[in-house]
Amino acid sequence: MNICVVGTGYVGLVTGTCFAEFGNHVVCVDKIAAKIETLERGEMPIYEPGLQAMVERNVKAGRLKFTTDLTRSIEDALVVFIAVGTPQGNDGRADLSFVQEVARTIAHNLNSYKVVVTKSTVPAGTGSMIRKTIEDNRKEKHAFSVASNPEFLREGAAIEDFMRPNRVVLGVEDETASAILRDLYRPLYLIETPIVVTDVVTAEVIKYASNAFLATKISYINEMADLCERVHADVHVVSRAMGLDRRIGPKFLHPGPGYGGSCFPKDTRAVLELARDHDVDLRIVRAVIEVNDARVGKMMDKIRTAVGGELRGKTVCVLGLTFKPNTDDLRESPAMAILDRLLEAGARVRAFDPEAGAALAREPRPGAEICRDEYTAAEGANAVVLATEWNQFRSLDLERLRSLVATPVIVDLRNVYDPNVMREKGFRYTGVGR
Ligand code: NAD
Repeated sequence: MNICVVGTGYVGLVTGTCFAEFGNHVVCVDKIAAKIETLERGEMPIYEPGLQAMVERNVKAGRLKFTTDLTRSIEDALVVFIAVGTPQGNDGRADLSFVQEVARTIAHNLNSYKVVVTKSTVPAGTGSMIRKTIEDNRKEKHAFSVASNPEFLREGAAIEDFMRPNRVVLGVEDETASAILRDLYRPLYLIETPIVVTDVVTAEVIKYASNAFLATKISYINEMADLCERVHADVHVVSRAMGLDRRIGPKFLHPGPGYGGSCFPKDTRAVLELARDHDVDLRIVRAVIEVNDARVGKMMDKIRTAVGGELRGKTVCVLGLTFKPNTDDLRESPAMAILDRLLEAGARVRAFDPEAGAALAREPRPGAEICRDEYTAAEGANAVVLATEWNQFRSLDLERLRSLVATPVIVDLRNVYDPNVMREKGFRYTGVGR
Protein backbone atom coordinates (compact mmCIF):
# COMPACT_ATOMS: atom_id res chain seq x y z
CA MET A 1 0.00 0.00 0.00
CA ASN A 2 1.23 3.52 -0.73
CA ILE A 3 1.19 5.70 2.33
CA CYS A 4 2.07 9.30 2.98
CA VAL A 5 2.80 10.44 6.54
CA VAL A 6 2.72 14.22 6.97
CA GLY A 7 4.88 15.47 9.83
CA THR A 8 8.15 13.68 10.57
CA GLY A 9 8.33 14.24 14.33
CA TYR A 10 8.26 11.72 17.16
CA VAL A 11 4.96 10.25 15.97
CA GLY A 12 5.21 10.66 12.19
CA LEU A 13 8.72 9.27 11.87
CA VAL A 14 7.99 6.23 14.01
CA THR A 15 4.61 5.62 12.33
CA GLY A 16 6.04 5.89 8.82
CA THR A 17 9.01 3.69 9.62
CA CYS A 18 6.89 1.00 11.26
CA PHE A 19 4.39 0.95 8.37
CA ALA A 20 7.37 0.50 6.01
CA GLU A 21 8.56 -2.34 8.24
CA PHE A 22 5.12 -3.93 7.70
CA GLY A 23 5.97 -3.95 3.96
CA ASN A 24 4.22 -0.79 2.75
CA HIS A 25 5.68 1.97 0.59
CA VAL A 26 5.90 5.02 2.79
CA VAL A 27 6.82 8.62 2.12
CA CYS A 28 7.43 10.74 5.24
CA VAL A 29 6.95 14.44 4.59
CA ASP A 30 8.04 17.42 6.63
CA LYS A 31 8.05 21.10 5.87
CA ILE A 32 11.34 21.60 7.69
CA ALA A 33 13.91 20.97 4.97
CA ALA A 34 16.75 20.55 7.49
CA LYS A 35 14.92 17.62 9.11
CA ILE A 36 14.49 15.88 5.76
CA GLU A 37 18.14 16.52 4.83
CA THR A 38 19.22 15.00 8.17
CA LEU A 39 17.14 11.89 7.46
CA GLU A 40 18.43 11.64 3.91
CA ARG A 41 21.99 11.64 5.31
CA GLY A 42 20.94 8.64 7.40
CA GLU A 43 20.92 10.58 10.68
CA MET A 44 17.99 10.80 13.11
CA PRO A 45 16.55 14.22 14.00
CA ILE A 46 15.33 12.75 17.32
CA TYR A 47 16.67 10.24 19.82
CA GLU A 48 14.48 7.14 19.93
CA PRO A 49 15.93 3.71 20.80
CA GLY A 50 15.92 1.29 17.85
CA LEU A 51 14.72 3.84 15.31
CA GLN A 52 17.92 4.39 13.35
CA ALA A 53 18.40 0.71 12.47
CA MET A 54 14.78 0.33 11.38
CA VAL A 55 14.93 3.48 9.23
CA GLU A 56 18.18 2.29 7.58
CA ARG A 57 16.74 -1.14 6.86
CA ASN A 58 13.59 0.22 5.21
CA VAL A 59 15.34 2.96 3.24
CA LYS A 60 17.71 0.33 1.90
CA ALA A 61 14.80 -1.92 0.93
CA GLY A 62 13.29 0.99 -1.01
CA ARG A 63 10.15 1.12 1.14
CA LEU A 64 10.83 4.37 3.02
CA LYS A 65 11.52 7.83 1.61
CA PHE A 66 11.75 11.34 3.00
CA THR A 67 10.72 14.51 1.23
CA THR A 68 9.43 18.06 1.60
CA ASP A 69 7.24 17.61 -1.49
CA LEU A 70 3.79 17.21 0.04
CA THR A 71 1.91 17.68 -3.25
CA ARG A 72 3.57 14.75 -5.00
CA SER A 73 3.38 12.57 -1.90
CA ILE A 74 -0.38 13.11 -1.56
CA GLU A 75 -0.95 12.35 -5.23
CA ASP A 76 0.87 9.02 -4.96
CA ALA A 77 -0.79 7.82 -1.74
CA LEU A 78 -3.94 5.86 -0.98
CA VAL A 79 -3.73 6.68 2.72
CA VAL A 80 -2.53 10.05 4.05
CA PHE A 81 -1.71 10.17 7.75
CA ILE A 82 -1.68 13.60 9.37
CA ALA A 83 0.93 13.48 12.15
CA VAL A 84 1.72 17.19 12.54
CA GLY A 85 1.85 18.97 15.88
CA THR A 86 -1.32 20.11 17.65
CA PRO A 87 0.27 22.37 20.25
CA GLN A 88 -1.55 24.26 22.96
CA GLY A 89 -2.96 27.53 21.68
CA ASN A 90 -2.97 30.73 23.76
CA ASP A 91 -6.48 29.95 25.00
CA GLY A 92 -5.59 26.39 26.12
CA ARG A 93 -7.38 24.83 23.13
CA ALA A 94 -5.50 22.63 20.67
CA ASP A 95 -4.04 24.75 17.87
CA LEU A 96 -5.26 23.02 14.71
CA SER A 97 -3.62 25.37 12.22
CA PHE A 98 -1.07 22.75 11.07
CA VAL A 99 -3.83 20.17 10.60
CA GLN A 100 -5.93 22.68 8.65
CA GLU A 101 -2.98 23.59 6.44
CA VAL A 102 -2.44 19.92 5.57
CA ALA A 103 -6.16 19.36 4.94
CA ARG A 104 -6.17 22.26 2.45
CA THR A 105 -3.12 20.87 0.66
CA ILE A 106 -4.81 17.46 0.45
CA ALA A 107 -7.89 19.15 -1.03
CA HIS A 108 -5.80 20.89 -3.69
CA ASN A 109 -4.10 17.63 -4.68
CA LEU A 110 -6.93 15.13 -4.46
CA ASN A 111 -6.39 13.19 -7.68
CA SER A 112 -8.12 9.91 -6.68
CA TYR A 113 -9.92 8.28 -3.71
CA LYS A 114 -7.92 8.61 -0.49
CA VAL A 115 -8.30 7.90 3.19
CA VAL A 116 -7.26 10.94 5.24
CA VAL A 117 -6.33 9.83 8.75
CA THR A 118 -5.47 11.91 11.80
CA LYS A 119 -2.67 10.39 13.89
CA SER A 120 -2.21 13.70 15.65
CA THR A 121 -4.15 14.15 18.88
CA VAL A 122 -7.12 16.30 17.90
CA PRO A 123 -10.32 17.44 19.62
CA ALA A 124 -13.72 15.91 18.93
CA GLY A 125 -15.06 17.43 15.74
CA THR A 126 -11.73 17.71 13.92
CA GLY A 127 -12.66 14.89 11.53
CA SER A 128 -15.78 16.84 10.48
CA MET A 129 -13.65 19.98 10.09
CA ILE A 130 -11.21 18.09 7.82
CA ARG A 131 -14.10 16.72 5.75
CA LYS A 132 -15.53 20.22 5.25
CA THR A 133 -12.12 21.73 4.43
CA ILE A 134 -11.49 19.13 1.74
CA GLU A 135 -15.02 19.37 0.32
CA ASP A 136 -14.80 23.17 0.17
CA ASN A 137 -11.34 23.29 -1.40
CA ARG A 138 -10.93 20.23 -3.63
CA LYS A 139 -10.28 21.00 -7.27
CA GLU A 140 -11.46 17.60 -8.53
CA LYS A 141 -14.56 15.93 -7.09
CA HIS A 142 -12.96 12.63 -6.07
CA ALA A 143 -14.42 10.74 -3.15
CA PHE A 144 -12.43 10.48 0.08
CA SER A 145 -12.86 9.15 3.61
CA VAL A 146 -11.82 10.82 6.83
CA ALA A 147 -10.62 8.62 9.68
CA SER A 148 -9.08 8.93 13.13
CA ASN A 149 -6.30 6.61 14.28
CA PRO A 150 -4.99 8.14 17.51
CA GLU A 151 -1.47 7.22 18.54
CA PHE A 152 -0.65 5.94 22.02
CA LEU A 153 3.12 5.40 21.71
CA ARG A 154 5.45 6.56 24.46
CA GLU A 155 8.62 8.38 23.55
CA GLY A 156 11.57 6.22 24.55
CA ALA A 157 9.63 3.02 23.81
CA ALA A 158 7.94 4.19 20.62
CA ILE A 159 8.93 1.33 18.31
CA GLU A 160 7.90 -1.32 20.81
CA ASP A 161 4.62 0.50 21.47
CA PHE A 162 3.85 0.78 17.76
CA MET A 163 4.76 -2.82 17.02
CA ARG A 164 3.07 -4.26 20.12
CA PRO A 165 0.30 -1.84 21.07
CA ASN A 166 -2.26 -2.61 23.77
CA ARG A 167 -4.90 -1.74 21.16
CA VAL A 168 -5.40 0.03 17.86
CA VAL A 169 -8.26 2.51 17.60
CA LEU A 170 -9.80 3.13 14.19
CA GLY A 171 -12.47 5.79 13.89
CA VAL A 172 -14.06 5.53 10.44
CA GLU A 173 -16.94 6.97 8.43
CA ASP A 174 -17.47 4.04 6.08
CA GLU A 175 -16.68 0.40 5.36
CA THR A 176 -14.11 1.20 2.62
CA ALA A 177 -11.88 3.15 5.00
CA SER A 178 -12.39 0.52 7.69
CA ALA A 179 -11.25 -2.27 5.34
CA ILE A 180 -8.18 -0.31 4.14
CA LEU A 181 -7.04 0.60 7.64
CA ARG A 182 -7.68 -2.88 9.04
CA ASP A 183 -5.60 -4.23 6.18
CA LEU A 184 -2.80 -1.83 7.03
CA TYR A 185 -2.74 -3.11 10.62
CA ARG A 186 -3.07 -6.75 9.56
CA PRO A 187 0.47 -7.68 10.80
CA LEU A 188 -0.75 -6.89 14.33
CA TYR A 189 -3.60 -9.43 14.05
CA LEU A 190 -0.96 -12.15 14.31
CA ILE A 191 -0.14 -11.00 17.83
CA GLU A 192 -3.86 -10.69 18.56
CA THR A 193 -3.86 -6.94 19.10
CA PRO A 194 -7.39 -5.75 19.92
CA ILE A 195 -8.63 -3.41 17.17
CA VAL A 196 -11.40 -1.06 18.27
CA VAL A 197 -13.36 0.11 15.23
CA THR A 198 -15.70 2.98 15.93
CA ASP A 199 -16.85 6.31 14.50
CA VAL A 200 -14.46 9.22 14.05
CA VAL A 201 -15.60 11.41 16.94
CA THR A 202 -15.51 8.52 19.42
CA ALA A 203 -11.94 7.72 18.37
CA GLU A 204 -11.01 11.37 18.90
CA VAL A 205 -12.47 11.29 22.41
CA ILE A 206 -10.74 7.98 23.27
CA LYS A 207 -7.33 9.61 22.94
CA TYR A 208 -8.08 12.58 25.21
CA ALA A 209 -9.97 10.41 27.70
CA SER A 210 -6.96 8.05 27.92
CA ASN A 211 -4.35 10.77 28.36
CA ALA A 212 -6.43 12.67 30.90
CA PHE A 213 -6.91 9.44 32.88
CA LEU A 214 -3.17 8.70 32.93
CA ALA A 215 -2.50 12.27 34.05
CA THR A 216 -5.11 11.74 36.76
CA LYS A 217 -3.23 8.72 38.13
CA ILE A 218 -0.05 10.80 38.32
CA SER A 219 -1.65 13.76 40.07
CA TYR A 220 -3.50 11.38 42.38
CA ILE A 221 -0.36 9.61 43.60
CA ASN A 222 1.41 12.97 43.89
CA GLU A 223 -1.28 14.18 46.27
CA MET A 224 -1.01 10.91 48.21
CA ALA A 225 2.75 11.54 48.40
CA ASP A 226 2.05 14.92 50.01
CA LEU A 227 -0.18 13.20 52.54
CA CYS A 228 2.44 10.50 53.23
CA GLU A 229 5.04 13.16 53.98
CA ARG A 230 2.78 14.71 56.64
CA VAL A 231 1.76 11.45 58.32
CA HIS A 232 5.22 9.81 57.98
CA ALA A 233 4.03 7.02 55.67
CA ASP A 234 6.02 5.70 52.70
CA VAL A 235 4.28 6.42 49.40
CA HIS A 236 6.58 3.98 47.66
CA VAL A 237 5.02 1.11 49.57
CA VAL A 238 1.55 2.64 49.31
CA SER A 239 1.78 2.81 45.52
CA ARG A 240 3.23 -0.68 45.23
CA ALA A 241 0.44 -2.15 47.32
CA MET A 242 -2.19 -0.16 45.42
CA GLY A 243 -0.75 -1.30 42.11
CA LEU A 244 -0.96 -4.97 43.08
CA ASP A 245 -4.73 -4.56 42.99
CA ARG A 246 -5.54 -5.51 39.41
CA ARG A 247 -8.43 -3.07 39.34
CA ILE A 248 -5.89 -0.27 39.86
CA GLY A 249 -2.72 -1.54 38.16
CA PRO A 250 0.87 -0.50 38.93
CA LYS A 251 1.50 1.92 36.04
CA PHE A 252 1.54 5.69 36.40
CA LEU A 253 1.61 5.51 40.19
CA HIS A 254 5.11 6.92 40.65
CA PRO A 255 5.18 10.15 42.60
CA GLY A 256 7.51 12.88 41.43
CA PRO A 257 7.78 16.39 40.04
CA GLY A 258 4.57 16.04 38.00
CA TYR A 259 3.82 15.04 34.45
CA GLY A 260 5.40 16.88 31.54
CA GLY A 261 6.22 16.25 27.91
CA SER A 262 4.53 17.23 24.72
CA CYS A 263 1.24 15.44 25.44
CA PHE A 264 -0.26 15.36 28.95
CA PRO A 265 -0.02 19.09 29.76
CA LYS A 266 -1.52 20.21 26.45
CA ASP A 267 -4.02 17.36 26.15
CA THR A 268 -5.49 17.82 29.63
CA ARG A 269 -5.96 21.54 28.91
CA ALA A 270 -7.37 20.88 25.44
CA VAL A 271 -9.97 18.42 26.71
CA LEU A 272 -10.95 20.81 29.49
CA GLU A 273 -11.50 23.62 26.96
CA LEU A 274 -13.26 21.29 24.52
CA ALA A 275 -15.67 20.25 27.27
CA ARG A 276 -16.20 23.88 28.33
CA ASP A 277 -17.09 24.72 24.71
CA HIS A 278 -19.83 22.10 25.01
CA ASP A 279 -21.00 23.31 28.47
CA VAL A 280 -19.43 20.41 30.33
CA ASP A 281 -17.25 21.09 33.35
CA LEU A 282 -14.59 18.36 33.67
CA ARG A 283 -13.97 18.98 37.37
CA ILE A 284 -11.62 16.04 37.83
CA VAL A 285 -9.40 17.05 34.91
CA ARG A 286 -9.37 20.63 36.21
CA ALA A 287 -8.14 19.40 39.61
CA VAL A 288 -5.53 17.17 37.94
CA ILE A 289 -4.09 20.19 36.14
CA GLU A 290 -4.13 22.31 39.30
CA VAL A 291 -2.27 19.63 41.26
CA ASN A 292 0.29 19.26 38.49
CA ASP A 293 0.82 23.00 38.15
CA ALA A 294 1.73 23.14 41.84
CA ARG A 295 4.30 20.33 41.66
CA VAL A 296 7.36 22.27 40.52
CA GLY A 297 6.82 24.79 43.35
CA LYS A 298 6.63 21.94 45.85
CA MET A 299 9.84 20.40 44.45
CA MET A 300 11.54 23.80 44.78
CA ASP A 301 10.49 23.91 48.45
CA LYS A 302 12.19 20.53 48.95
CA ILE A 303 15.40 21.73 47.30
CA ARG A 304 15.38 25.00 49.25
CA THR A 305 14.91 23.15 52.55
CA ALA A 306 17.62 20.64 51.63
CA VAL A 307 20.22 23.40 51.13
CA GLY A 308 19.27 25.13 54.37
CA GLY A 309 16.64 27.62 53.21
CA GLU A 310 18.43 29.97 50.82
CA LEU A 311 19.28 29.12 47.22
CA ARG A 312 21.08 32.33 46.28
CA GLY A 313 24.77 31.59 45.84
CA LYS A 314 24.33 27.83 46.30
CA THR A 315 25.52 25.37 43.67
CA VAL A 316 22.87 22.89 42.62
CA CYS A 317 23.54 19.92 40.37
CA VAL A 318 20.56 18.83 38.25
CA LEU A 319 20.73 15.30 36.85
CA GLY A 320 18.39 14.64 33.92
CA LEU A 321 16.68 17.38 31.93
CA THR A 322 14.37 15.58 29.51
CA PHE A 323 10.76 15.10 30.58
CA LYS A 324 11.43 11.38 30.99
CA PRO A 325 14.32 8.98 30.30
CA ASN A 326 15.22 7.57 26.86
CA THR A 327 14.17 10.61 24.89
CA ASP A 328 15.79 13.92 23.96
CA ASP A 329 12.47 15.76 24.33
CA LEU A 330 12.58 18.81 26.60
CA ARG A 331 9.02 19.97 25.93
CA GLU A 332 7.24 20.86 29.21
CA SER A 333 9.91 19.01 31.13
CA PRO A 334 9.54 19.47 34.91
CA ALA A 335 13.34 19.17 35.16
CA MET A 336 13.75 22.20 32.90
CA ALA A 337 11.14 24.13 34.90
CA ILE A 338 13.14 23.35 38.05
CA LEU A 339 16.39 24.41 36.37
CA ASP A 340 14.79 27.73 35.38
CA ARG A 341 13.42 28.32 38.89
CA LEU A 342 16.82 27.56 40.40
CA LEU A 343 18.43 30.15 38.13
CA GLU A 344 15.73 32.69 39.01
CA ALA A 345 16.40 32.05 42.69
CA GLY A 346 20.08 32.93 42.19
CA ALA A 347 21.51 29.42 42.43
CA ARG A 348 24.49 28.32 40.34
CA VAL A 349 23.28 25.41 38.27
CA ARG A 350 25.43 22.58 36.94
CA ALA A 351 23.44 20.07 34.92
CA PHE A 352 23.84 16.91 32.91
CA ASP A 353 21.54 14.92 30.65
CA PRO A 354 22.63 11.97 28.48
CA GLU A 355 20.64 12.95 25.37
CA ALA A 356 19.38 16.51 25.66
CA GLY A 357 22.46 18.12 24.03
CA ALA A 358 20.94 19.00 20.63
CA ALA A 359 17.60 20.04 22.12
CA LEU A 360 19.42 22.26 24.66
CA ALA A 361 21.33 23.93 21.84
CA ARG A 362 17.95 25.03 20.46
CA GLU A 363 16.75 26.22 23.87
CA PRO A 364 19.92 27.36 25.61
CA ARG A 365 19.96 28.29 29.30
CA PRO A 366 22.86 30.74 29.46
CA GLY A 367 22.96 30.77 33.26
CA ALA A 368 23.38 27.03 33.62
CA GLU A 369 26.57 25.10 33.10
CA ILE A 370 25.80 21.99 31.05
CA CYS A 371 28.41 19.39 31.98
CA ARG A 372 29.78 16.38 30.12
CA ASP A 373 28.77 13.78 32.71
CA GLU A 374 27.03 13.35 36.05
CA TYR A 375 30.22 13.48 38.10
CA THR A 376 31.48 16.70 36.55
CA ALA A 377 28.04 18.19 37.19
CA ALA A 378 28.25 17.21 40.86
CA GLU A 379 31.56 19.02 41.48
CA GLY A 380 31.20 21.51 44.31
CA ALA A 381 27.43 21.03 44.58
CA ASN A 382 25.50 21.94 47.71
CA ALA A 383 22.75 19.60 46.51
CA VAL A 384 22.36 16.99 43.80
CA VAL A 385 18.82 16.96 42.40
CA LEU A 386 17.87 13.79 40.57
CA ALA A 387 15.22 15.19 38.23
CA THR A 388 14.87 12.54 35.48
CA GLU A 389 15.47 8.86 36.18
CA TRP A 390 17.86 7.88 33.37
CA ASN A 391 19.17 4.37 34.02
CA GLN A 392 22.73 5.59 34.46
CA PHE A 393 21.60 7.65 37.48
CA ARG A 394 20.24 4.53 39.16
CA SER A 395 23.70 3.16 39.78
CA LEU A 396 25.77 6.22 40.63
CA ASP A 397 29.15 5.61 42.25
CA LEU A 398 28.04 7.11 45.56
CA GLU A 399 31.51 7.25 47.10
CA ARG A 400 32.84 9.12 44.12
CA LEU A 401 29.83 11.43 44.18
CA ARG A 402 30.35 12.13 47.87
CA SER A 403 33.98 13.02 47.28
CA LEU A 404 33.01 15.54 44.57
CA VAL A 405 30.14 17.48 46.16
CA ALA A 406 30.55 20.37 48.60
CA THR A 407 27.77 19.01 50.83
CA PRO A 408 26.37 15.47 50.62
CA VAL A 409 22.75 16.38 49.95
CA ILE A 410 20.55 14.45 47.53
CA VAL A 411 17.07 15.50 46.48
CA ASP A 412 15.71 12.46 44.71
CA LEU A 413 12.60 13.66 42.87
CA ARG A 414 12.09 10.22 41.29
CA ASN A 415 12.52 8.04 44.41
CA VAL A 416 15.26 6.07 42.67
CA TYR A 417 17.30 5.52 45.83
CA ASP A 418 16.54 3.86 49.14
CA PRO A 419 16.53 6.56 51.83
CA ASN A 420 18.18 4.27 54.41
CA VAL A 421 20.99 3.22 52.07
CA MET A 422 21.64 6.86 51.19
CA ARG A 423 21.83 7.83 54.85
CA GLU A 424 24.23 4.96 55.52
CA LYS A 425 26.40 6.27 52.67
CA GLY A 426 26.54 9.61 54.42
CA PHE A 427 24.05 11.62 52.37
CA ARG A 428 21.28 13.84 53.63
CA TYR A 429 18.43 12.42 51.55
CA THR A 430 15.09 13.90 50.53
CA GLY A 431 12.67 11.89 48.41
CA VAL A 432 9.05 12.36 47.46
CA GLY A 433 6.38 11.10 49.85
CA ARG A 434 8.65 9.03 52.05
P1 NAD B 1 6.57 16.97 16.52
O1 NAD B 1 6.52 18.42 16.82
O2 NAD B 1 7.73 16.17 16.98
O3 NAD B 1 6.42 16.74 14.97
C1 NAD B 1 5.49 17.39 14.16
C2 NAD B 1 6.13 17.59 12.80
O4 NAD B 1 5.15 18.08 11.88
C3 NAD B 1 7.25 18.64 12.78
O5 NAD B 1 8.44 18.06 12.30
C4 NAD B 1 6.72 19.74 11.85
O6 NAD B 1 7.74 20.36 11.11
C5 NAD B 1 5.79 18.94 10.96
N1 NAD B 1 4.79 19.75 10.26
C6 NAD B 1 3.97 20.70 10.74
N2 NAD B 1 3.20 21.20 9.76
C7 NAD B 1 3.53 20.55 8.63
C8 NAD B 1 3.07 20.62 7.28
N3 NAD B 1 2.12 21.46 6.91
N4 NAD B 1 3.64 19.81 6.38
C9 NAD B 1 4.61 18.94 6.73
N5 NAD B 1 5.08 18.83 8.00
C10 NAD B 1 4.54 19.62 8.93
O7 NAD B 1 5.22 16.38 17.15
P2 NAD B 1 4.96 14.90 17.72
O8 NAD B 1 5.48 14.79 19.10
O9 NAD B 1 5.37 13.91 16.70
O10 NAD B 1 3.37 14.93 17.82
C11 NAD B 1 2.55 14.94 16.68
C12 NAD B 1 1.12 14.69 17.12
O11 NAD B 1 1.00 13.39 17.71
C13 NAD B 1 0.59 15.67 18.14
O12 NAD B 1 -0.78 15.89 17.91
C14 NAD B 1 0.77 14.92 19.44
O13 NAD B 1 -0.13 15.34 20.44
C15 NAD B 1 0.48 13.52 19.03
N6 NAD B 1 1.11 12.48 19.85
C16 NAD B 1 2.38 12.63 20.28
C17 NAD B 1 2.99 11.63 21.04
C18 NAD B 1 4.40 11.78 21.54
O14 NAD B 1 4.79 11.00 22.40
N7 NAD B 1 5.19 12.72 21.05
C19 NAD B 1 2.27 10.46 21.34
C20 NAD B 1 0.98 10.32 20.86
C21 NAD B 1 0.40 11.34 20.11
